Amino acid sequence: MDYSTNFGSLTFNKKAMKSYMQPDTYGKMLKILEGENAMDSKIADQTAEAMKKWAVENGCTHYCHWFQPLTGSTAEKHDSFYDPDNNENLITNFSGKLLVRGEPDASSFPSGGIRDTYEARGYTAWDTSSPAFINRTETGATLCIPTAFVSWTGEALDKKTPLLRSINAVNIQAMRMLKIFGNDKGVKKTITTLGCEQEFFLIDESFVEEREDLLLCGTTLVGKEAPKGHQLDDHYFGTMKERVLAYYHDVEDQLLDLGVPFKTRHNEVAPAQFELAPTFENANVATDHQMITMHVLKKTAKDHGFCCLLHEKPFARINGSGKHNNWSISTDTGLNLLDPTEKTHENIQFLTFLCSIIQAVDKHADLLRASIASAGNDLRLGGNEAPPAIISVFLGEMLTDILDQIEKGKVSSTKKGGIMNLGSTTIAEISRHSGDRNRTSPFAFTGNKFEFRAPGSACSIAWPNTVLNTIIAESIDEIATKIEQEIKSSNLEKAVYKVLKEVIKKHKKVCFDGDGYSKNWEKEAIGRGLPNLKTCADALPCLKSKKSLDVFEKYNVLTNIELKARVEILEEQYVTNKEIEARTLVSMMSTQIIPAAEIYQFELAKNLNAVSSALNSKNKTKSQQAKLKNLTNMIEDSLDLVQRLKQQEKKHLSPADIKNSIVPLMDKIRICSDELEGIIPDDLWPIPKYSEMLFLF
Ligand code: ADP
Ligand code: MG
Repeated sequence: MDYSTNFGSLTFNKKAMKSYMQPDTYGKMLKILEGENAMDSKIADQTAEAMKKWAVENGCTHYCHWFQPLTGSTAEKHDSFYDPDNNENLITNFSGKLLVRGEPDASSFPSGGIRDTYEARGYTAWDTSSPAFINRTETGATLCIPTAFVSWTGEALDKKTPLLRSINAVNIQAMRMLKIFGNDKGVKKTITTLGCEQEFFLIDESFVEEREDLLLCGTTLVGKEAPKGHQLDDHYFGTMKERVLAYYHDVEDQLLDLGVPFKTRHNEVAPAQFELAPTFENANVATDHQMITMHVLKKTAKDHGFCCLLHEKPFARINGSGKHNNWSISTDTGLNLLDPTEKTHENIQFLTFLCSIIQAVDKHADLLRASIASAGNDLRLGGNEAPPAIISVFLGEMLTDILDQIEKGKVSSTKKGGIMNLGSTTIAEISRHSGDRNRTSPFAFTGNKFEFRAPGSACSIAWPNTVLNTIIAESIDEIATKIEQEIKSSNLEKAVYKVLKEVIKKHKKVCFDGDGYSKNWEKEAIGRGLPNLKTCADALPCLKSKKSLDVFEKYNVLTNIELKARVEILEEQYVTNKEIEARTLVSMMSTQIIPAAEIYQFELAKNLNAVSSALNSKNKTKSQQAKLKNLTNMIEDSLDLVQRLKQQEKKHLSPADIKNSIVPLMDKIRICSDELEGIIPDDLWPIPKYSEMLFLF
């Protein structure tokens, strides 16, 4: 693989456009990509022709509009480029109309009640800002055109449309703020940037075939912890095994071709857990690339005899997986607006953006929590591995100090980290950051960006970023309005510090630099009035509050109807996922685990009888009798709990029912099963164990 020449070779990027388009069409297309000109039918036709030529030369027979419905995954309907002509020859056929608009049947995608089954019409619309790409398999190739997906009535039925609207909302407000500071000259727009670190597990594929839970739910519903977990911290950043490295090389080759710029790879904390992080890009393209990355990770795993588990908590009692969402805003001229620069205390523009973000997170902590709510993520948040469900902001020593100075009314200095001398002339001196890192914070400032650490590993990153952008747009808007007001009777600097002082006073309660895993923080957070929404059932209703409906509507991200529909879908997905898990658990317990326990019970009883009669005494087998009794009790308990779960699961369930009755029952069944696993002989245990799955490569 030649890294330098292969990058983006399977994408219709600017390079491909330039070589397949007439210079004047290419020039016009560039302006469209920059958002300066609108698409017209002539350019659409010319682009379609160029794109088709490029795709067919690269082996494509089909094209598809590739979109992100509210299922959380991607969707595509393939159409052939080829049609027969009058002479019974196949000729290629692709027009601007077909490129720009598709018409998939929308009735089978979730719409949250926006559309009835008989109201089927939906449209996909080409997103010119995200390059089309080729999905190539061993047997063929398909051109995928990133698109938005809307209903015939114009409502967004996908994740891309509101994300693009939210990026626009941030742009409008950020440009306004730049103008206030007189820094908008030469800047055409601002861009939200995004880089998502993806965590995942790899296990041998053969184990999945033997476990219904992994096969159907992507996670283990039972399983006793292996004697070794990550106590020794010997997996984190450890030397990568050759088989894993071969997998990574393959993944990276494909991502390179698809124009996804990956950056880092390493073993994660838990055994069999890994991470891949890209170079950040504009948030829309980064989101598409994130979906592509998940797809490539999964499909490539199969080629290497692995299964890639993207679930947030595939194994109980060891770390789960997240998707750290690194987010910032920059200008189209390449200036990162969250770069604090050397003299941060004098950088009032940075401080204003920073305070806008703090205000947004405090005001809408509930929405941010809801934006990452999923059945899988409920299992991860608040464990000693992932941030708690309480949303707070980590700023670090230097920024905390400057905000303190602003609050006190006199801003004079920026704390410096200094140089570290490690006491040996052979080790280079290194500069030290002005503050430490804090891995327990859900929303941490990490040098020149914020890292939202709460999103789960399996989620589409579009929705959390839509929420983040929307609430930040509102906050920048509010603060800009106040500054504009103040400037009327003051100078810019005074006006800014006055407004920021108020913001800090009101919203500093969301800032917390301590240990987010500690019990004390939970108590303290309650005292500060911060929400602690532990499950989907607690978090999702926040999205329907007036405050939430208003903010999405005001910034033209989602109408009330669109937002309510989304909440309905999210609640349904939570309930349905849990129902599938409950049914899978019932099935595994009834057909595998309890029968294995009964076989062992029978063997124990037989053995006990034989031994007692051989020794002609029951007194000599007291411990064995106790063991049999204990096993019998466990089987009885399991049968009873499984029966109860079966009964519950038949009802029509709400998210609250899932939280209050299904999850507690499933937890109890798991305890029974894991105890049984600890006493039943290995050769009778019907499913692969944690120690095998996590350590056999
Ligand atoms: P960590 O030490 O937090 O694990 P990584 O190097 O694994 O750091 O990941 C950091 C991520 O942050 C990368 O994906 C990187 O591209 C992204 N990132 C860096 N700068 C920005 C920025 N300005 N905007 C958005 N993402 C960024
Ligand atoms: Mg990382």
